[in-house]
Amino acid sequence: MAETAREQIERVAKGCKIKLTFVKPDDAYCMTDGEDFYKNKCILKVDVKTNGIIVGLFEDENRMLASFFHQVGHTIIDRSTIETSDVEKEAIKRGDFLAEVHGITLDKAALAWVRSQAKK
Ligand SMILES: [Zn+2]
Repeated sequence: MAETAREQIERVAKGCKIKLTFVKPDDAYCMTDGEDFYKNKCILKVDVKTNGIIVGLFEDENRMLASFFHQVGHTIIDRSTIETSDVEKEAIKRGDFLAEVHGITLDKAALAWVRSQAKK
């Protein structure tokens, strides 16, 4: 049976030692910030203890996957060597590469969507 997008995310997060949180409607996150805040986005949370990604509420699994890998891309960038203006491009590129390494092909349209979101 084919792996679902969620299973793929869980597999990669485990391998990369990334703490994962999947937001659910009506959970504590949505109670605090509102559901809309978590629609169609993944949020990277980095603090001393946690290398964590919060996966928001997605209707489109391809977008969820592409958005997740974009954030993973951010975790492997060395900001000191990359121009600020290139950070988004670089994060998306590295995330896409990492997906490939894990045998996951990101949907082209979803990647284009992520690029358009990252510019905002
Ligand atoms: Zn980004």
